[in-house]
Amino acid sequence: ATHAKLNLPSLGETTVPTGLFINNEWVAPSAAEAFATVNPATGEHLVNVAHASAADVDAAVRAARASFRSTWGTNVSGVERAGVISKLADLLERDAELIAALESTTDVADAVACLRYYAGLADKIHGQTIDSFGGEKLCYTLHQPIGVCGQIIPWNYPLLMWAWKVAPALAAGCTVVMKPSELTPLTALAMSDLAKEAGLPAGVLNTVPGLGATTGEAIARHPDIDKVAFTGSVATGRRISIAAAESNLKKVTLELGGKSPLLVFDSADVEEAADWTAVGIWFNSGQDCCASSRVYVQEGVYNAYIAALKKRAEACAIGQPSAEDTSFGPLISAGQRDKVLSYIQSGRDEGASVVTGGRKWPHSNGGFWVEPTILADTHEGMKVVKEEIFGPVVVVSKFTDEAHALALANDTTFGLAAAVFTNDGRQATRVARALDAGTVWINQYNYIHAGVPFGGFKQSGIGRELGTYGLEAYTQVKAVHQNL
Ligand code: NAD
Repeated sequence: ATHAKLNLPSLGETTVPTGLFINNEWVAPSAAEAFATVNPATGEHLVNVAHASAADVDAAVRAARASFRSTWGTNVSGVERAGVISKLADLLERDAELIAALESTTDVADAVACLRYYAGLADKIHGQTIDSFGGEKLCYTLHQPIGVCGQIIPWNYPLLMWAWKVAPALAAGCTVVMKPSELTPLTALAMSDLAKEAGLPAGVLNTVPGLGATTGEAIARHPDIDKVAFTGSVATGRRISIAAAESNLKKVTLELGGKSPLLVFDSADVEEAADWTAVGIWFNSGQDCCASSRVYVQEGVYNAYIAALKKRAEACAIGQPSAEDTSFGPLISAGQRDKVLSYIQSGRDEGASVVTGGRKWPHSNGGFWVEPTILADTHEGMKVVKEEIFGPVVVVSKFTDEAHALALANDTTFGLAAAVFTNDGRQATRVARALDAGTVWINQYNYIHAGVPFGGFKQSGIGRELGTYGLEAYTQVKAVHQNL
């Protein structure tokens, strides 16, 4: 079966795609295997989705290779590519309610903006002219699409991560084999229909849902994929790098995890710092790669900050995602909830104090909630300070001066994001410069824009997404030497 019926909040019974999307057609998986998807707010089974085997991935790669050679990568102009991507943005806006209902995404507007941004760049891909050879020779560069790209995305923002990957690849003229997370495959499947409707030629975008260890591994190891772009955990990123190197040295970009520090100096507006920390750690229930999960506060404002943050935690509107006033939804799975609870226990065992939260939400019923949680008086040796929890848990401790704050903030193997709250402008600039992070926010948090590059220092990743950097990541440079 390639489609199933699903009862969606606000839309009622709806037919949704659950098969493989290869060469602009819905097909059943060759091995007739499927996996289940579950509603994290109730624990209920939603639908079964096709599991793409290595043979199915291979069929998708062949379709992507053929369309790369015959149409999209070679003789479709940037203006035409821009037209299709922009149409896709319009269709996503048209179907926003359906896409949002499928996986309760809150990221439709940002995904539309990302598609429009890259539609705008698709006809602005330029090389250089190098005319420095005394009239005997002329060189120029062509920025050409890399080719067939495997894209593997996580579950925390099923639509936005899809847009960050697919939009720049299509703009550059690459063709795509996309694997959404097995926990949230429905959005990428629904987007495949919209891409076809927008006018994408057959084979340009193929969607192969499946498990990481099988479908994901088949993409990472495929000898005819030119690049793999991945967002997910450090452990999986490492495996994908190894598979890419061992198979055909395909190019790799990785957007991995984080343990992002947020520094609050004595001069900061403590209420403002608490507001932004709450956004950073409790938006999407902390399932955010750049969550503000590690806070360091200068001694003079420590107690005031803890009190202010506690107020925000207790004001979170925990409830069903379908209810209008809910601001705090469940974690993605029972496994993720149990992992977060075991981190909280480890924090307690290692001597952290639980300021608020720390438990499974008592009204969870079948859903997977953990309360917004603050662990205070933590220190660098603790597991909760070192490891990414990927849940609504923030650790808070004190620092004495700027040098101490920087030493603590940079004492990590991650480097995705960081923030500094201070009213001293020179200090903000100094600290932003010294932090080991791909993104630094000053007196704010979580601001991300399609035009601004995003990616990690250290083990938080390789390469950048978004902005013109994100487009360059899907092109390669050819130097042409002409004898005159
Ligand atoms: P994950 O690494 O478990 O899975 C991510 C994707 O990789 C899924 O599609 C999964 O099926 C696939 N996968 C798993 N094993 C694989 C393998 N051996 N070969 C190929 N593919 C495989 O991560 P997750 O739990 O889905 O997501 C949470 C992680 O993602 C967190 O660490 C978070 O920080 C990170 N993340 C990073 C960013 C970023 O932009 N840096 C954004 C969102 C999430």
